[in-house]
Amino acid sequence: MSRRDSILREIGLGPLWRLRDRPESGDAPAAESDAPAEPDTSAVATRTAAPPAPVAATPAPSSPAEAGRATEIAAMGWVELKTAVSACQACALGRERKQAVLGVGDVEADWLFVGEGPGAEEDERGEPFVGQAGKLLDAMLAAIDLRRGDNVYIANVVKCRPPNNRTPEAEETAACWPYLERQIALLKPKLIVALGRPAAQTLLRSEVKISSTRGRLLEFNGIPLIVTYHPAYLLRNLPDKAKAWEDLCFMRRTMRNLDQS
Ligand code: SF4
Ligand code: URA
Repeated sequence: MSRRDSILREIGLGPLWRLRDRPESGDAPAAESDAPAEPDTSAVATRTAAPPAPVAATPAPSSPAEAGRATEIAAMGWVELKTAVSACQACALGRERKQAVLGVGDVEADWLFVGEGPGAEEDERGEPFVGQAGKLLDAMLAAIDLRRGDNVYIANVVKCRPPNNRTPEAEETAACWPYLERQIALLKPKLIVALGRPAAQTLLRSEVKISSTRGRLLEFNGIPLIVTYHPAYLLRNLPDKAKAWEDLCFMRRTMRNLDQS
């Protein structure tokens, strides 16, 4: 069994997630397998998707003080960002967190994965996606030969844990946005993957449904952007794992295309 197979089996994804070998390209299904074929997303990858209808998902700064804060953050380097989020009280989430979680990984990464916000374990450890959802994210990365920290950076839309893991409020997302915006500017990733609705809505600045936004090549400020299900959602909705698998294949194919262009 390959390393990837054993990782996937270990976390209960079984054959559904098995990446199969195709001798010609190393990318398509073997003749006999119970796993679904890797979908042909090449047409999707080159299709120009109609952008989702814009709404104010990421409000503009509402006061001169907010604008000033955003300008300051926009000039920060990594060390300053880390210090700033650690002390930040710009929204209500700052009051209850144990620690702010800026992000983790390779600051030269081609891949940026963006989740929603820290959960209990992330709040304890100060690193994104280290709980159950994180294990699944690691397996998803492994399925396309990626590892956290190695050409991959992982961040969240809000840096402090929302109480009871509730969805961040619009004001919290807006208050935290300058940090993610700066992270993206520093990283200059080749491809951004939005994990779940809050990340997708923040980056696309519009209301979106994952089911109708996934499988399309979108963009954030000129950077290719792909939307997929959040791993925590996949843990509760097993049938959508097949779609997440399609999305992973689409991501991998898109990155290959980007590498070649
Ligand atoms: Fe500051 Fe973001 Fe934490 Fe709110 S969630 S306190 S804006 S770091
Ligand atoms: N879910 C997220 O969106 N982010 C984390 O860091 C952990 C769980």
